Amino acid sequence: MAAPSPCSTTPRRDSYQRRRPDETLLYQLIDEHWPTFLERAEQSAGLPDFIVEEFEAYLRCGMLEHGLAQFACRQCGESLAVAFSCKKRGFCPSCTGRRMADVAAHLVDEVFPEVPVRQWVCSLPWRLRYAMGYDRKLCADVLDAFIVSLRRSLRRRAKAQLGLRSVDDPLFGAVTFIQRGDSSLRLNVHFHCLVIDGVYVRDERGALRFHELGAPTHEELTDVARWTHERLGLVLERHGRSLDELAGDAATDLLGQEQPVLASCYGASTADRQLLGDAPGQ
Ligand SMILES: [Zn+2]
Ligand SMILES: [Zn+2]
Repeated sequence: MAAPSPCSTTPRRDSYQRRRPDETLLYQLIDEHWPTFLERAEQSAGLPDFIVEEFEAYLRCGMLEHGLAQFACRQCGESLAVAFSCKKRGFCPSCTGRRMADVAAHLVDEVFPEVPVRQWVCSLPWRLRYAMGYDRKLCADVLDAFIVSLRRSLRRRAKAQLGLRSVDDPLFGAVTFIQRGDSSLRLNVHFHCLVIDGVYVRDERGALRFHELGAPTHEELTDVARWTHERLGLVLERHGRSLDELAGDAATDLLGQEQPVLASCYGASTADRQLLGDAPGQ
């Protein structure tokens, strides 16, 4: 008996194509160097479990030999193998890419109102990036310093432009993504904030109305930077640190004491120095 022909004789151009992570440069690099790197790290103090798990899950992600789901058409018997993915949030390009697309669709469909949105980016001194790379609470407080300064700016502008009684009347909205790396994969903790480009104010009947504020002037931008800097000083003080201390005193470097291997990777990465390779320390 002849095999039944597929339901669809013309293959669709948008049909599923299995991705081949092992053909990418990133996969090949990690696959080749990860075991040696891990071995050398373990000769010192080792790496935190979450990092080992992230790399090993990535090396299994999308590889059929590490698990797959088989989909088959009951009519014609055509079948398709889909490899399991790691679903990690660190650096797997496939899983983070998928997450990015899902979150973007969610924000557009469900979260943002139909008003103009401006992207604000806050980049920070490199010594602070190093400290924020490991200290989640510090990172959250630094972000708060930026957002509060941004809100202050929008509220002030709204009060002046709309003739409001109080700076507390206008309502403000923002969504932030904390990025840990830059385009050359160095540790560079910085913030991308999607901020509605205006404020909501209640009208006389209590209904919320949007007022667009538009681009900030150079002076208004400088104010946001200055206020963030002032607040940063307070945040660091609360955390028992200071920008001067972050510039070099190893005695207060908690990460260096708890996770020396990770600390040297972070340190080299933020300072743009090679840790391994042909010219370590350069
Ligand atoms: Zn079929
Ligand atoms: Zn993955």
